[in-house]
Order: sequence, then structure tokens, then C-alpha cells
Amino acid sequence: MRWEGRRQSKNVEDRRAIAGPVMVGGGLFTILIMIVMMFLGAPPEQLAKIAAPPAQQQQRIPPQQQANDEMKQFVSVVLADNEDVWGKLFPQHFQARFQPPTLVLFTGRVQSACGLASAAAGPFYCPLDKKVYIDLAFYDELKRRFGAPGDFAQAYVIAHEIGHHVQNLLGISNKVQSMRPRLSEKDYNKLSVRMELQADFLAGVWAHHVARYAGIVDEDDIREAVNAAAAIGDDRIQKQSQGYVVPDAFTHGTSEQRVRWFLYGLKEGNPELMERAFEVDNP
Ligand SMILES: [Zn+2]
Repeated sequence: MRWEGRRQSKNVEDRRAIAGPVMVGGGLFTILIMIVMMFLGAPPEQLAKIAAPPAQQQQRIPPQQQANDEMKQFVSVVLADNEDVWGKLFPQHFQARFQPPTLVLFTGRVQSACGLASAAAGPFYCPLDKKVYIDLAFYDELKRRFGAPGDFAQAYVIAHEIGHHVQNLLGISNKVQSMRPRLSEKDYNKLSVRMELQADFLAGVWAHHVARYAGIVDEDDIREAVNAAAAIGDDRIQKQSQGYVVPDAFTHGTSEQRVRWFLYGLKEGNPELMERAFEVDNP
């Protein structure tokens, strides 16, 4: 993917300097002090100092270097691409304005409106604060543990999360959440799979429109994204982690389904077809 020198989104919130040390050196007591100090109106630099014991302070990336690091620039360009594509598609297809999400970079653990989350859970979207959260260390995991290298594999991960933001803006997330209390776990999981496949479809729709700008995306990029979608299928992850597959426990869909829905979005480029994710398995 050609991304160097292209527009970077300003909607990136870098919380790596603050969250990291809390995770490593903090502990409950430190967090409590920080909360009290936040209420007293302490400036963020002071909070960061409390959170980081001297030993950890040395490991922290200097703010200057952090602001300019390549990975952050890359995700900012991908986010800008998403803003551009959805900014056009929303008025065209949904007669609405696209409200851009914020992308939060964190290390280790992060507080979102949806609760405290650990990086181990992978990147996620919180519908309550409309933010995408990602610990960039996930990209190493994607490469090493899941065998899915490449910058477009990384772009796909972000586009999938923004797919959840699209679902949120269109009221789909709310509808599904409101059904939850009435469903068995098995049925809720099925619905969750539909939501995830739809997000993969929306990532494909995004890729369709980005691929139209000459020279930004090529065949190899698409292969990287497809490989990533396959690598994070429930069946493959379950086989890898526990040695066997439990379809009722699937929450994201199989590798085959994830690839199929991504490719369907890529081929069609029409977000209105997203409804089909709840109707049929065969796009
Ligand atoms: Zn998802």
C-alpha cells in the first residue's frame, strides 16, 4: 500500500505514554491516586509521572519521537482514507453525514467508555464513545502468531473496526444490543458472527473504493488483507489455541466466511448490500 506522504487524519489520540507505565509499574493504589488527582484537576504530565516509577520512565518513548513514529503515521493515513471513503458513501447511500471516529493508540491497557480493556483482547471499537482502540503491538502478533504480515493486512484491521463504527452510526449496534437479554448465548453468538461478517464486508467496501485511486493498492495488498481475514477466523484461532473447534462459541465467523464477506464488499463496493449479512450466508 502506498501511504507515505499522503493525508493523515487528525482524529488519532495517542495515549501510549500514559497508559503504558500504569500497566507495567502501576497497580491499584497508583490508579486510585491518579483518579483522585484527576478529580483535583492535576495536569496530565503530572499524572504520567505518578504512574511511572523511575525505572519505567527510562523505557518510555520520548514524546517527540513518539509523535513522529512511522506506525502512527501509517494508521493516521489509513484512518484518513476511511474518513474520505465513508464521507462520500454516507450521503450517497444513507442520506446522512459521516461522523468520523477517533482512533486511540494505547499500550497494555486502556480505559474506554465500554470499560477497562487489555491489549490481549485485540483491537476493538467502543460504540459508547465512538472510538477505535488499538495497541500497535497487535500488528506484531498478527505477523508472528497469526502469520499475516503486510501493511494492507494492518489497514484491513482498522477498516474492520471502522465497519463497526458504521454499524453504530446506522443504529445496527443498538438494535443488536437491545436483543441481547432475550437471546440464549448460542443465539447471541450467531448474531455476533453476523455483525462481524458485516464489518468484514464494510472493510471490503472501503478497500473497493481505495483501490480505485490509482497506485495506492495493488494485488499483493488485497492478498495480504484476505490472508489476515483468514488468519483471524474463529475456527483457525480455536484450533490453534485449544486444538479443536466449537462452532457454537464462534463470535466472528470462520476463516472462509470472513474472507468471503470481505471479498464480497471488495467486489461490490456498495454499502447498502450490508443488510445481506443478516439474511444469507452466501453473498
Ligand atoms: Zn469486529
